[in-house]
Amino acid sequence: MTPGGLLFRLAGAANPLRTTDDWRGPAGRNADIAARGFLMAQGLGEDGLRLADIGLNANKLASYSMINVWRTLILFRQDAALGPPGGVRGGAQLLTDALAGATSGLRLGNAVSAIETTASHVEVTLADRSRVRAPHAICTLPFSVLRRIPVAGTPLAQRAAIDAMPYTQIAHVYFEPASRYWETDGLPPDTWTDGPLERVFAVRDRETGQPNGLLLAWLNGDGAAWIRGKSDSAIAEVIARELPKARPAAQGPVRVVRTVRWTDENPLAGGAYMHYAPGQVAAWSDSLSAPAGRLHFAGEHLSRLATGMEGALESADAAIATILSLRPGKMP
Ligand SMILES: Cc1cc2nc3c(=O)[nH]c(=O)nc-3n(C[C@H](O)[C@H](O)[C@H](O)COP(=O)(O)OP(=O)(O)OC[C@H]3O[C@@H](n4cnc5c(N)ncnc54)[C@H](O)[C@@H]3O)c2cc1C
Repeated sequence: MTPGGLLFRLAGAANPLRTTDDWRGPAGRNADIAARGFLMAQGLGEDGLRLADIGLNANKLASYSMINVWRTLILFRQDAALGPPGGVRGGAQLLTDALAGATSGLRLGNAVSAIETTASHVEVTLADRSRVRAPHAICTLPFSVLRRIPVAGTPLAQRAAIDAMPYTQIAHVYFEPASRYWETDGLPPDTWTDGPLERVFAVRDRETGQPNGLLLAWLNGDGAAWIRGKSDSAIAEVIARELPKARPAAQGPVRVVRTVRWTDENPLAGGAYMHYAPGQVAAWSDSLSAPAGRLHFAGEHLSRLATGMEGALESADAAIATILSLRPGKMP
């Protein structure tokens, strides 16, 4: 088992949730404990906790509620009942590109810099200082972005969540090593480390499934902090120094091809996706999706039944239904 599988394996045997909506009710309140405490109660010591923390797809075990894990496991079970997972040929972004292509009037490359709600409309100011006014608006900015944007007018009931909702910090560093060292040291190309490179995965050819020579260092949570402010060449130096500690055959310079930062360094993201810290679900669940007058909210952070991309769609559906109910016959 990889270190990342441990938490899910142990949690699977103890899931107090039964349905996709249970996490918001009484069962969820019992489930709202830190993942670190849960693993300690299962007998994991400090060494095991440190490895599980590196494999965690969140910031850290201590601030990660088990609600996130148990909720995901319910969704995995639901998905498994539908058959093997599918994929979007050519990459999942083609799906959102197709949605965007079916929409007219999109204004891209012009970030929202301020929002104002009034009794009659919502006005959004863009980076080029132009303004857009509408009777209602749906704000789908992640809270990690919205917390940096002034919202004037009606007070936001979910202000505490906007300011404090944790977003998983992820950095992806794609790099080319000096050699295909996994072909000479007899080990698999993927490496789980307890060093700053955390996890190193081979990028595989879509058709053949074989490693194409590029590697991806996947840094999560606190482990993504060291690349803050670093250039690709500075990151390459760290990789060239650290990788041989885990894989002695990986000698020589590396070339960083691309770094993607879903971190607080990136003002359009602030993080990759949200999760709840212990105590937040009960404190926030009533106010999380509440409209502020004519300003409505959607996005994966407001999902109820699903998470991720499906969660984003689910929450948008709910926001649109609310606006339609306020404006019967006014919208297509
Ligand atoms: C590495 C990674 C792996 C993932 N894996 C999965 C997976 O396997 N399955 C899954 O379901 N989900 C996955 N997700 C999560 C999924 O991408 C999100 O849940 C989903 O994109 C959320 O949709 P959203 O519309 O709520 O927010 P986003 O997709 O984050 O959209 C927010 C948009 O707002 C834009 N924006 C930011 N600031 C401004 C501004 N000031 N003005 C205007 N626009 C702005 C951003 O550019 C972005 O386009 C993954 C995410 C990452 C980063």
